This record gives sequence, structure tokens and C-alpha cells, in this order.
Amino acid sequence: MTFTRRNFIKQSLAGVALTGLHKFSEADGFYALDDFAKVPKIDIHFHLNIASNTFPEFGKSLNFHLVNVNVAAGRPLKEQFEIAKIMKKRFPGTMDFLGAFSVADFGKPGFAANTISYIKENVQAGALGFKVWKNIGMVLKNDLGKFVMVDDPGFTPIFNYLEQHQIPVMGHLGEPKNCWLPLDQITLASDLRYYTRHPEYHMYKHPEAPSYESLIAATENLLTRHPKLKYVGTHLASLEWSVDEMANHLERHPNMMLDVAARMDHLQYQSVQDKARVAGFLTKYQDRVMYGSDTTIGTDNDATPETKDILHKKWLNDWGYLATDSVIFENMKIGDSQRVVTGLKLPKAVLNKIYRENAQRFFKI
Ligand SMILES: [Zn+2]
Repeated sequence: MTFTRRNFIKQSLAGVALTGLHKFSEADGFYALDDFAKVPKIDIHFHLNIASNTFPEFGKSLNFHLVNVNVAAGRPLKEQFEIAKIMKKRFPGTMDFLGAFSVADFGKPGFAANTISYIKENVQAGALGFKVWKNIGMVLKNDLGKFVMVDDPGFTPIFNYLEQHQIPVMGHLGEPKNCWLPLDQITLASDLRYYTRHPEYHMYKHPEAPSYESLIAATENLLTRHPKLKYVGTHLASLEWSVDEMANHLERHPNMMLDVAARMDHLQYQSVQDKARVAGFLTKYQDRVMYGSDTTIGTDNDATPETKDILHKKWLNDWGYLATDSVIFENMKIGDSQRVVTGLKLPKAVLNKIYRENAQRFFKI
């Protein structure tokens, strides 16, 4: 089936029951906030763009295995690849990486074949998978000046290769739905601040660019055409605004996984209003969700005690939200009211999957 805007909306109405799933008893066993450092964890979304030992060592001290994600932005990809290889060698067993390919030569002869050779080279060097980024769908244009989506036939040989060889793909395709909403409808205060300051990235103001729905539909087409592709939609697959919508997509695409990187606040926004729904979602799909922080260490200036402290707080805050029922934020703005965000207190078995076991299985770590 090809996903168009119309059947995207139609499919979205097919609901999946999410409430009533989170009734845990003390016998399930729970972690405390203090267990954070003791439990072995994997952060599958970390950008370490410098060959510094500070963060791998810090992660190790907190029992974190880091997956360093190359991305077609910032430092040249060849340099990112070199750094990823060096760090994997320096920290065997606690540092891994995902490669990323350039789309600069898209549409030129040899693009697919050259990209596949680059993928092979990365996999031989130990890459666990590949990341594709939002430049596909939102920046890249073809010779006719049209935006190139991820389901473009020009990418088909590449995704065929990744599917055949069962090489995991992390897709950051699209952006949060808020990016396409007028300022007075944007849900999160942080998103409102960002798009007020950066109108150039606020897609609501750029109707000439692809719509939210068309980007989501392109990803669905990719997964429909490549049903065996091992795919993780990072940033909650840009479906962060609705656990029901994520559930619909996970039902339609049995090989699709999600990571929570940089979108935990969207889960919190929903759980403040309906905790049972969010806890029910993470319980029902406990085999399909992985932890990632989307931390970026871009320059040597980032390897400071202050940055370490910020990262520690973020990691601990995310853990507290998923593992405990303590207060995470005193005041989250929901419409005109301020609400207290408390944690979901998911059982140990669910935490072990989200923080470790799903990533071990998916990436073969
Ligand atoms: Zn990222």
C-alpha cells in the first residue's frame, strides 16, 4: 500500500487499547533512583564528534555503553567515521557506532553503488548500523527542484542492500509535529521558544516545503516496501505527539522500533494528562522502545565538568521518570496551567528492555 495523506489519517483512527496495562504490583520489582549507576545501560543515540575519552569514561563509570551516531550534519562524515573507529578501539565493549552516508551525489551516476561500498567499509570497521537524517525529505532536492523523500526510487538499491544484509537503520525523518503548527497551537513551551527564535526552521511558515503528513507517509512507504528492514525511528519516529499514533505505526510495521532520544518531554506532556496511557504504551511495546539521549559533544570545549554535570542530570532525570514515581518537573506548562510531572515507575523487567536488552537484540551488541 502507498501511504497518502488521506489513508494516513484513516489509518490513524484505528485505535490500539493502551490503558489498563500498567497495573503493576510490588512483586514486579522496581528500581530506585540510586540504582541508576548500577544497572547496565545502553544509550543508542550519542554524538561524540571528538576523540576525547572524557565521555566514554564517564559513561562507563555509570554503566553506560554508548552508541556513537554519525550524522550527515556538522563535521565531515569521513572525519566522524575516523573518530568513531578510534573510540570503538579505545573502549572495546562500551563504545559502538552507527555510520551515515552523504547524499551530496544523489541523482548522479554511481550514487547507489558508491554509497553501498561506503556502507560495506563501515560495517567492516564495526558499524552496528546506519543513520539516515532529515536532510532527506526536508533539504535535498532533485534536478527538477523538487524535495527528495526517503521513498524516492534513487534510494531503493541502498535500502535493498541494508534490508538484505539486515543492517539496522536509524531514521531521523521529519521533525516534531509542532514544527508545522502555528505558534498558538505548539504544545511544548521549549518548542514554542525555539520556533519563535528560529522562524527559518518553523515549517508552518514554509508551506512550499513538504508537509508533516507527507514526511510520515514517505517513511511508511519505505517500511512497507522493505518489510524486513531493521528500522528504528529515532526521536519517537517524529510521532512524539501521540502514543496512540506510535502504537498504530508499531502495529503496522512489525520490524519498526522507536527510540526516545530528545523527546522524553513529549511523553511527559502526555503522561501529565493521562499517565495510564503512556505507562500502558511503554508496557505494551516494551520490546520495541530503546533509550537514547541525543547528547552531542561537538568540540573540545564540550569536554568540561559542567557538560558532564548537565549530561549526568539529564540521564538521571530520564531514569527517574521511567523508573520511579518521584517529581521530575515542578511545573510543565499545559495550555494555561502549570502541572507537576511525576515518574511512570515502570517495573524492572520493562526498564531492562528499554535500557539494554532491546538494543542488544536489535543491534546485535
Ligand atoms: Zn541526534
